[in-house]
Amino acid sequence: MRILLAEDDAMLGDGLRAGLQQQGFSVDWVRDGLAAEREIFAGDYAAAVLDLGLPMKDGIEVLTSLRARKISTPILVLTARDAIPDRILGLDLGADDYVVKPVDLHELGARLRSLVRRSHGQMQDILTCGEIVLEPSSRRVSLKGEPVLLSTREFDLLHVLMLNADRVMSREQLEQQLYSWGYEVDSNAIEVHIHHLRRKLHADVIQTVRGVGYTMLRKQTPA
Ligand code: CA
Repeated sequence: MRILLAEDDAMLGDGLRAGLQQQGFSVDWVRDGLAAEREIFAGDYAAAVLDLGLPMKDGIEVLTSLRARKISTPILVLTARDAIPDRILGLDLGADDYVVKPVDLHELGARLRSLVRRSHGQMQDILTCGEIVLEPSSRRVSLKGEPVLLSTREFDLLHVLMLNADRVMSREQLEQQLYSWGYEVDSNAIEVHIHHLRRKLHADVIQTVRGVGYTMLRKQTPA
């Protein structure tokens, strides 16, 4: 799950990035409002964490400009404890949620997962495709009730495919959802992970759509 973090405070930004990475997010970090706006506009982020007090362009302006351009990326704003007017303004201008500083990393992670899930029309935390069940918060996967052990990348890839169940995802889209900046992606990395997932979860759960990409069906016919 790739997210954009916009925070100018070096120590806080570093802590947030590390804490979110630990919870399995891929994090791209920018330090000013112009960069935040540009990257959210151009990138395919599952969600963004936007500090309101940013140099070059403050968070409220970034939010206003993105929503005016019909960018619907879920955005969570970071606000100071006493800045209730900012919070209200942020929500009114199209922020999807907020977290108050000092940030509790587990709360931030949970709120981001919830935003991403809701933006895909999912009301529940748990995702199912046929007999496969995936729990984003605990990062657990089971098949027919039996736990399945996946690597971090395999889990992340399965998560993206299940969030987008019944849609075809191209290799480029999957790469964009999984890898943060500066990460060297082997051209066949996605294929390799898909191969491993098929081995662990039964061959036909992930279907190849020739020349387009991959898809998982929410309703699967039992093998
Ligand atoms: Ca700030």
